[in-house]
Amino acid sequence: MTDGSNILKASYHTLGCKLNFSETSAIGMQLASRGIIRALPDETPDIVVVNTCSVTEVADKKGRSLIRRLRTRWPGATLVVTGCYAQLKPQEVADIEGVDIVLGNDEKLRIVDFIEQWESERRSQIAVHHYLDIRDFRGACERGDRTRYWLKVQDGCDYFCTYCTIPFARGRSRSGRIADLVAEAEKAAEAGGKEIVLTGVNVGCFGKDTGEDFLELLKRLDAVEGIERYRISSIEPNLLTEEIVRWIAAESRAFMPSFHIPLQSGSDEVLRLMNRRYRTDLFTDRIALIRSLIPDAFIGVDIIAGARGETEEEWERSFRYAESLPVSRYHVFPYSERPGTKALGISHQVGQEEKHRRVAALTKLSDEKLRAFSRLFIGKVRPVLWEHPDAEEEGMMYGHTDNYLRVRANASASSYNMITPILITGLHDVETLTGRFL
Ligand code: SF4
Repeated sequence: MTDGSNILKASYHTLGCKLNFSETSAIGMQLASRGIIRALPDETPDIVVVNTCSVTEVADKKGRSLIRRLRTRWPGATLVVTGCYAQLKPQEVADIEGVDIVLGNDEKLRIVDFIEQWESERRSQIAVHHYLDIRDFRGACERGDRTRYWLKVQDGCDYFCTYCTIPFARGRSRSGRIADLVAEAEKAAEAGGKEIVLTGVNVGCFGKDTGEDFLELLKRLDAVEGIERYRISSIEPNLLTEEIVRWIAAESRAFMPSFHIPLQSGSDEVLRLMNRRYRTDLFTDRIALIRSLIPDAFIGVDIIAGARGETEEEWERSFRYAESLPVSRYHVFPYSERPGTKALGISHQVGQEEKHRRVAALTKLSDEKLRAFSRLFIGKVRPVLWEHPDAEEEGMMYGHTDNYLRVRANASASSYNMITPILITGLHDVETLTGRFL
């Protein structure tokens, strides 16, 4: 797909989750296999690919404004829009002026066929499968600009939480095969990668469709030489089994002491209204198990503020529960109303002002938890993987400890992508510690 004299160039723009980022990378590799190279920031691309998100109304809005901006900037380029917003609202996306091709999530990794068709017919196209017909697993492994790879191990979700549109955007749960995923990890190691984050929509559902086992996947990946660190992007508490935690604690070589677990509410009544698959007693047990077996583990927890059904009483209950948990930080999300979700049938609504008050209270709680957790490591030595230089101060680098604390230290450029023991000396800001080479 070249024009005979010039090599075609594409630019890529991604919104949303890590899964989207790894898929954008896979799209880039497909186009590269047809000779279409990535445009440099100052070059005019022939093809513009926008991989959208639709997790909230705000995400849709960001997608629309990005598409308009890109169209104005490059009026002559072929504009392809894909991702969850394209999947959920294809016509709305197609109606944005200048959009040439709209691809659903199942079609995004067949982009080459659609671009070829566009080149021969010059006719706008919408290709979106119904979410129930999305069946194929399409693998993707993305190298971030840092030292980390994002390996997609699973896609889709069968849970249908009442507030969530993801199952409609990504289809039913499906997984990669262990042998293929191990091969991807080996490739990443050969290319110098040190850390791999396992991504998916509901990662713990890995293997439910293929009969393979998630813990077996972890064990096989753990044996890949050269990869020093693995993390699981996020895992539902009911799927983070005692067996997995015990294996990470006692046997794993490279699965790091860091966990990301969605709680969403500390009220059992709100969890019930959300159709979540656990209650606070299970969550309490999981956190206690991790803390008892891996005391230094970083535990990040997602929580939603102001969901439908979160009355004043349930909010108080939820906040007190969040306060009581020995976790390292909260990722706080204001509840976002999504058209078509079952949650719209729950009558109690939280006003905007009150929602913001709850977000602020949880954010403050999270900052306190993070500071308290970080302080535990001042004066201790932890291994840090150096990821990128400080853009503002020469000679300073940023990296993460094994237990996912961000560290800033005076380090030479040769430290990039190296793991070194570092003495933690203090707090730089709420998100970052200061460190010193030994
Ligand atoms: S587990 Fe629930 S919140 Fe997560 S993707 Fe599935 S339906 Fe959405």
